[in-house]
Amino acid sequence: MEKVKAILEATKMDFEMHDNFKIRIKRLKTKAASISFGTRVIRLNKELANDPEFVTYLIYHELAHYKLHTRFHSYKFYKLLNSKLGEEKVKAIERKITRKMSEINHISRPFD
Ligand SMILES: [Zn+2]
Repeated sequence: MEKVKAILEATKMDFEMHDNFKIRIKRLKTKAASISFGTRVIRLNKELANDPEFVTYLIYHELAHYKLHTRFHSYKFYKLLNSKLGEEKVKAIERKITRKMSEINHISRPFD
């Protein structure tokens, strides 16, 4: 959990965000992660939370939703993520997470 919090702080700094967020590691059935705009709680799927690469990506992903205040994966959304992490890296990690989620739960679209 300390590692997860450190990743959260580094990501907030990168996005120049000053809000406080809480992280919960949960057994999520269909999602890799989620964020509540109201309570600023980020939920990470327990099955993905031990991998720092996954955690880093998921926190960037959820904070990008918050920063742009959208639940959609629009052009603007990926433009922001790609500018921070690199397009190839974003694609590769999403593929890895999707593969992992389909192994665990037979979920084929964890980012919808
Ligand atoms: Zn998303």
